[in-house]
Amino acid sequence: KCHNELVRLKGNIRVIARVRPVTKEDGEGPEATNAVTFDADDDSIIHLLHKGKPVSFELDKVFSPQASQQDVFQEVQALITSCIDGFNVCIFAYGQTGAGKTYTMEGTPENPGINQRALQLLFSEVQEKASDWEYTITVSAAEIYNEVLRDLLGKEPQEKLEIRLCPDGSGQLYVPGLTEFQVQSVDDINKVFEFGHTNRTTEFTNLNEHSSRSHALLIVTVRGMDCSTGLRTTGKLNLVDLAGSERVGKSGAEGSRLREAQHINKSLSALGDVIAALRSRQGHVPFRNSKLTYLLQDSLSGDSKTLMVVQVSPVEKNTSETLYSLKFAERVR
Ligand code: ADP
Ligand code: MG
Repeated sequence: KCHNELVRLKGNIRVIARVRPVTKEDGEGPEATNAVTFDADDDSIIHLLHKGKPVSFELDKVFSPQASQQDVFQEVQALITSCIDGFNVCIFAYGQTGAGKTYTMEGTPENPGINQRALQLLFSEVQEKASDWEYTITVSAAEIYNEVLRDLLGKEPQEKLEIRLCPDGSGQLYVPGLTEFQVQSVDDINKVFEFGHTNRTTEFTNLNEHSSRSHALLIVTVRGMDCSTGLRTTGKLNLVDLAGSERVGKSGAEGSRLREAQHINKSLSALGDVIAALRSRQGHVPFRNSKLTYLLQDSLSGDSKTLMVVQVSPVEKNTSETLYSLKFAERVR
């Protein structure tokens, strides 16, 4: 209870940055020069050197390349466990392709990211809660590509899914036909993740390229019931690996590439608009402007909690995109 109160005091929307390390792929020439620096005594400040000009941003927290998966997870733990108490939570990884979104969310087998750690934590928390409460945890996985929502765990991943308002008047949204698997162990989730992966790999010859142009969502639902009173709670954790935020050159792109870029652009700015509107407590929040914000409406509004992880490439050749990402971060913060 206590840590949830803390999160609430900090506000329901938090924006952090994570800077990935320089990798071999960045090369060794001047292009790979590190353009990002940090403040020794303030871990909410990030400095960027863009075309010789220093720019600084203040976010809720900044993780340097030395930060481990565990360090980042520590920052989001309280959000994740609040789902057990019935809160809805969204965690987004935003940034240009190659900035580390998938590393932060999925991670590697040796070094799993938020997705797997979150499920593991939920399993152990509900087990420890030895009381009258019983919990079930289910997962769904979906992607949004060109404003089309698809089930990554379904038997027919080609099928388009629709978002509907629950007929019970609760204001909750649901997706008829979206597959939900009940999970109880790390083994279960590994199987589910593998299945989702195979679904995506068989369908796209270049999965890497495809995933950088679609939003990937892992939706974890925690349902609790107090066996003595029948009281029920539902909390939803939405873990979102967003499409790459890089702006496609207006002149270069055409045909399907241009269409993809327009869809990504539209949905990322819709997400920015929604968060900015929620943040400034504007009356009208434009949830309906994209599939992503419409789908997540009930996990973004009310007393829901949102964390945006803005992923940053440290190298000089990416500073234009980095500047754009940090401006996005500043806008939603
Ligand atoms: P994105 O999903 O944003 O396109 P990736 O997560 O695929 O980016 O990261 C690009 C590359 O950088 C990958 O090889 C990934 O393993 C590596 N990488 C990203 N972040 C880190 C990190 N914090 N530590 C080590 N390697 C990282
Ligand atoms: Mg990725």
